[in-house]
Amino acid sequence: MHSKPIYYEEPYQRTLQAVVTSITKKGIVLDKTICYPEGGGQAGDRGTIAGKPLLDTIKDDDHTIYHQVENPDFSVGDTVDIVLDWEHRYHYMQMHTAQHVASGLLFHHFSIGTVSVHQGERVLTIETDRKEIPLTVCYALEDLVNQSVREAKPVSYEVHTQQSAQALDLRRSIKVEGDGVRLVVVEDIDTVACGGLHVANTKEIDLFHYEGQEMIRGHVRLIFTIGAIAREEIRGKERIVEQLGALFSSPVEELVETASKAVTQASSDKSALKKCNERLALLELEKRIAGAPGEKGTPVVLWEVEEGLSLKDIGKAATAFENLALCAVQQNGEQVLWLIALVGKAEFLLDFPKQRQNLLSTIAGKGGGKPPLYQGVGTGEGLILLKTFKDLLV
Ligand SMILES: [Zn+2]
Repeated sequence: MHSKPIYYEEPYQRTLQAVVTSITKKGIVLDKTICYPEGGGQAGDRGTIAGKPLLDTIKDDDHTIYHQVENPDFSVGDTVDIVLDWEHRYHYMQMHTAQHVASGLLFHHFSIGTVSVHQGERVLTIETDRKEIPLTVCYALEDLVNQSVREAKPVSYEVHTQQSAQALDLRRSIKVEGDGVRLVVVEDIDTVACGGLHVANTKEIDLFHYEGQEMIRGHVRLIFTIGAIAREEIRGKERIVEQLGALFSSPVEELVETASKAVTQASSDKSALKKCNERLALLELEKRIAGAPGEKGTPVVLWEVEEGLSLKDIGKAATAFENLALCAVQQNGEQVLWLIALVGKAEFLLDFPKQRQNLLSTIAGKGGGKPPLYQGVGTGEGLILLKTFKDLLV
């Protein structure tokens, strides 16, 4: 037995007493209900039934409405109280009505069609039939929808035969079969066949806000917020702008310019710092080469690199010398970064590919490279690698 839907006659009714007619795996079936089942882009109702949480309301192919109740403790034949999560329901009624108004205005004022819609917890999205929609059109649409809010247009229903509904040549094709086609009429703005729930007057949309757009399936999808959520979004963004203004010590109207300058400055500081670090690595390496013992005329440098210098910069510096055998490690807790440079004649002192295993096994190391630089990472004591490197030199 199907539940009698009370929500069409009384979309504002928040409570109802109903009788449980069956309890199935899909959910509870009642003799009548105010709970709207998910469909047409609108979410299913939530709330409580006999005090137990109603998690969702769904409808199956044969139009049976199932109430998904958490841990129901009632039996078939019991009379139960339904209490809607009104905030949730009303949000969707507002959003759904706003969607009709927006799609109607897009079609009649801008000849832009609606391909699909989605009503979310926070945002309403309308997938259009366009590849491009300029910002001026988006703002003009926002103004027109808000104008309809101020003008308080009534939303009403008409029941038509399939033939009389088809004859109206509506912007959206009629998806239901047979007679008894339910048309939703937003006065002066839009008429479509729809089985969803709407507010009674456009003034209840309260506020319509354009949030932005994205591309989907080659179409522009417009993103909007409605009512209290729209206000929350606008205020949230205002606070972010204020905080950025304070962070950059800039009046809001100069914020973009100030931030752009700061980004450019940071980038040039970064490249200056990079040059300083490279220069520092070179000077430190020069100092060590000057005091290093030689092996067949090639200086040998074993280096425990202090914090603040980078092995990458040291590797780059090493290639500036004619002959150099360098093994450098940098301890970072248990982790050891290692660098071996065999520049010029140093390649005759150590055959890295051949000794790789002997060297890296001391620190369970990984990594490699190509002449004259090899580097990687390991664990344990970097000093052992330095000693092994020295022992392996021929
Ligand atoms: Zn609708």
